[in-house]
Parts: sequence; structure tokens; C-alpha cells
Amino acid sequence: MLVVMNNNASEKDINRVILFVESRGFEPRLCRGEEKCVIAAVGNKQIDKRDIELLPGVHEVLRISTSYKLTARAFQHEDTVIEVNGVRFGDKYTGLIAGPCAVESYDQMDETAQELAESNVKILRGGAFKPRTSPYAFQGLGEEGLKILRSVADNHSMAVTSEIMDVSQLDLFMKYVDILQIGARNMQNFNLLKEIGKIHKPVILKRGLASTFEEWLMSAEYIMAGGNGQVILCERGIRTFESYTRNTLDLSAIPVIKKLSHLPIIVDPSHGTGLRDKVEPMSRAAVAAGCDGLIIEVHHCPDCAMCDGAQSLYPWQYDLLYKQIKQIAPIVGKEIV
Ligand code: PEP
Ligand code: MN
Repeated sequence: MLVVMNNNASEKDINRVILFVESRGFEPRLCRGEEKCVIAAVGNKQIDKRDIELLPGVHEVLRISTSYKLTARAFQHEDTVIEVNGVRFGDKYTGLIAGPCAVESYDQMDETAQELAESNVKILRGGAFKPRTSPYAFQGLGEEGLKILRSVADNHSMAVTSEIMDVSQLDLFMKYVDILQIGARNMQNFNLLKEIGKIHKPVILKRGLASTFEEWLMSAEYIMAGGNGQVILCERGIRTFESYTRNTLDLSAIPVIKKLSHLPIIVDPSHGTGLRDKVEPMSRAAVAAGCDGLIIEVHHCPDCAMCDGAQSLYPWQYDLLYKQIKQIAPIVGKEIV
């Protein structure tokens, strides 16, 4: 941590900072420049930097080491690769996940899965516990939904992913689900993150609606700190002033996360844009930017979907997209299996 003093900071101010950082377990090193004086506080202690920023004569406090450790690229140089049902996420692999927003009925899931199987989908998505803005909107089929998801996926030799909303659902998810999804709204549900850290199943951690990269990686850190290293980060769009699209899909997350972390980063262009005709170009762009996977909403009949029909692809559109991104991936050194 570096404490940059004001140009007119007095010797008393400087000494106060030195004593303060010492009292918090850091080793202070003073560096006097022509105009400014900087105090390097060496050590790996937790501190609220505002406590120093408020001291007289302090201009700013800069953190040098990151607060996330296990998720950091510095901790593990090689990319983490997570494999589920023969589909790999990370390093040179781009894994694909597709399926409807929500599990609505056995027939709806079966018809969709049947179509997706023909496009080589090996991991099926479908929400059984839906986080809806309105309490009056369809909330999902609950356990019944998970059972349907599991049985349909088994019929088509697929693995499944579904969103867990609460710690109390963990036993159900351990029973029926292969990849647990933590939704954007729960990215900072620290109790849930701690519990997910104790299990041994892969987790998709979606970026919060207004989360910085650091906050997102800190949430992944919670899971990893508990002992579960199988975290897949998912960019799903963030809140901005733009209202034309549902969210603003931040594709810069791909190169940024790849630099900061060894964890795989996948993209959800469905929630990222909210509009079916924007899903295909943004998927192609995400693959071109080197993402480690895509999770895409597809419904056998988007026009009759109970939620997110407008952002769900028709199966034939997914098929076309699959063929396109299979060609794009090798250009950036990636492989879609
Ligand atoms: C979802 O994937 O169904 C979902 C609700 O996504 P998010 O948490 O990104 O909004
Ligand atoms: Mn959805």
C-alpha cells in the first residue's frame, strides 16, 4: 500500500502516518520526492484504507496487492479448466450451455432438449427457482422443476445447470444438479457463497448487476476459500444508463478477467442483451474475444415461453450460431467440442 502525502504535508503529518501504519502491523518506508513524499506500508494486513485517507496531510492511498488471492492469476499461472460431461471451460476450450430460462413442464423441456441434442448440446440449463422482480410473476416449479430437468437431461445424456437461490436448497441441488448457478442478484449473498465453498461441484458465478471486477472476484474468493476451486465466472451484463437493451453486456470482462484471474469466464448474451436478435452477434463477439464458454437461452417455442421468451433463440437459430462460432473459435486459438 502506498500513502501519497500532500505537497504541503508537514513533518508532523508524515510522522503521524508512519506511526499509524506501524500500529496496524505494517512496516513503513519513507520515500521523499522533489515535491511529494510517499510512505510505502509493507505487509499483508487487512486495513480500511479510508482510516489513512482521513489523516491530515494525506493525498491518496493506493493498494498494490489485490485483496483476492486464490482467484488471482498471480496465485496460479495456468488457466483452470473445468470439465462437465465432456464439455470443457477454460484454457483453449470454449464450452456451451443452452436451454430455456425456466423449466415449465416435462414436454417443454423434452422438446427443447431434443432439438438441442441435434446441435450437440451436452449441458442443459433451466431454472426451477426463479428470481423474479415481481412476486406475482412465475416463480419456477421448485423441486418438481429440478426433477424434470434431471430426467430430461438423463434421457438425452446431458448434464444440467440450474440456479440455487438459497442455502436451504443445497440438498436438492446436490441431488439433481451438476453445475450450480449463483445468479446476479445473489453474487454477494456471502452465506450462500460460503456454503457453496464447501461442496465439490462446479459453480457458475454470475456477475452482479452493478459489480466491479474486484467485487466479483472477491465473491469467487469466498467460494475458493471454502475449498471449492471449480468456479466459472459468467458475464451477464451490468446496469448502465442505457435502457434499449436489458443490460449492457460488458465484453471487456473477458480480457480483464483473463488477466486478473486463472478462472474460466463465460458469457450470457441472453440476459446481457435481453433481445433475441442481439444474442447471435454478441455470442460471436464473445467467442472472438476469447471467452471460455457461452450460456444461451433457447426455447422450443419462445413465443409461448413463461419467461424471457424475447431473449430466447429458436432452436434453428441456435444451430446456425453453433456452426458459426465453431468456425470463429479456432481463429483465436480456441476449440468448441
Ligand atoms: C438466469 O440465468 O436465469 C438468470 C436469472 O440470470 P441472472 O442471474 O444473470 O439474471
Ligand atoms: Mn432468463
